[in-house]
Amino acid sequence: MIQSTLSTDLISSHRLPGASERKPPPHTYLDNRGTKSQRENKRTRSQRARERLRTKEHLARLAVGLGEVELADKIERCHSRLSVLTCGRHIARIIPNFTCEFRLCPDCGRRRSRKLQSKYLPMMRGFMLHHKVTPVHLVLTQTHRKENRKQSAKRIKDSFTRLQRRGFWKQYFKGGTWSLEFTKDKNGLHHTHLHIIGFRRKFFDIELLRDEWLAATGDSHVLHLKPISDIAAGLREVVKYVSKPLDIRRFGAEDLREFLGLKNMRMFGTFGEFRDFCKDFEPSDNDAAVGDLESFSRDLVEGCACPQCNAPLFDLRMSGKELPQFYEQVESSPPGKVGTSWN
Ligand SMILES: [Zn+2]
Ligand SMILES: [Zn+2]
Repeated sequence: MIQSTLSTDLISSHRLPGASERKPPPHTYLDNRGTKSQRENKRTRSQRARERLRTKEHLARLAVGLGEVELADKIERCHSRLSVLTCGRHIARIIPNFTCEFRLCPDCGRRRSRKLQSKYLPMMRGFMLHHKVTPVHLVLTQTHRKENRKQSAKRIKDSFTRLQRRGFWKQYFKGGTWSLEFTKDKNGLHHTHLHIIGFRRKFFDIELLRDEWLAATGDSHVLHLKPISDIAAGLREVVKYVSKPLDIRRFGAEDLREFLGLKNMRMFGTFGEFRDFCKDFEPSDNDAAVGDLESFSRDLVEGCACPQCNAPLFDLRMSGKELPQFYEQVESSPPGKVGTSWN
């Protein structure tokens, strides 16, 4: 079975007598296929920066083709001049001259997903603590039909609403977050997925959940579920789809036109009791310290100590096109030369 690696880990870490009776056999709910974000993490930062540049060039070209000159200009100006706070070996902070805030811009998407992470992570930790629930990553899929992106998104969201009204769901889940992922196959059919962080009250047989999803969609029982052991990593994985909702490499002028028509479509949201919890949530000092990494780096200025090696930071001005090369330089600098001062 493909699940063997993960399930062995789980079994070996739960060798207490009687522990096995409390859980269903691992193969009923584990799914360890490599996720998109795991594959992305294998690439270096310079490779990813280069890809972001290429994506933006591609988007700007498509925008020009559609006569969206203003949009193209904004995308080109976004992150075109940078102030990079660095010790020479690490990059502590990058401050762009301008941000376009276009939803498909990979640079702006990264900032947006970091903001979502610092906003929701403390709430998720608080919720888990208060309600004694454990998080799982659930991917819901639907059958492919001839329909546009908007119809496809509406169909899967409506199915999810029906699923949430069912007794089974209410019995086992106490809310969570959802985000949309769009892909398109070579026949031009939309594959829309819902990525859910669900806060589970207790274990259940995944086959039962498949039946429930089939009842909610009418024609699909395909879903994947895996436990989340580190909520920060789990959240990082699902908000990635907010910054990168679709595969831009296969993106053509028609796709961009369609996407521009979706202006107000929500790509991320909360549901169930977690949604109410978020409304009333007031972070304690402790929660804020764990969650808000963004504000930590926001306080860094020239002359501060590098958070990774304590060497003083200086401000390096460069164009956005030079960033991948600078990452390369940083990646290839020998470890241990600077930065041993705190050992
Ligand atoms: Zn941008
Ligand atoms: Zn450093």
